[in-house]
Amino acid sequence: MDYKLTFKDYSKALTKGTLLGLKCKTCGNITTPPKMTCQECGGTDLEVVEVKKKGKIVTFTNVSVAPEGRQNEVPYIIVLVRLDEGPWIMGNLIDIDPASANMDLIGRDVSVGFKIFPGDKFSPGDQARPVFSFS
Ligand SMILES: [Zn+2]
Repeated sequence: MDYKLTFKDYSKALTKGTLLGLKCKTCGNITTPPKMTCQECGGTDLEVVEVKKKGKIVTFTNVSVAPEGRQNEVPYIIVLVRLDEGPWIMGNLIDIDPASANMDLIGRDVSVGFKIFPGDKFSPGDQARPVFSFS
């Protein structure tokens, strides 16, 4: 099976300010970050679309114990965001003091930006990934 949208191309588009996703021609659901199949129905007839970079925080985690290689980044906040167009996406919330994070974050409007994360043992080099800030 071909990847319609590789993580590399997704990452590259992010650095240019474009969030890409895959729209399922079977059910209309949008999946981002890209996967092999539609997250909703498992369909494989997908087309690359630009996704609006707006959403709301669904939940969050305050990370104080870092994964290997990321010890100098803690503490930080990871949010799960539901984008206005439907996809659920995770990433760092950047414009907040992690110590002040509380339940008021849930439901806040955020917009999607990006940050370059250095490669580690789990990824093949520097990659742009989505990050979120209040909008
Ligand atoms: Zn689908």
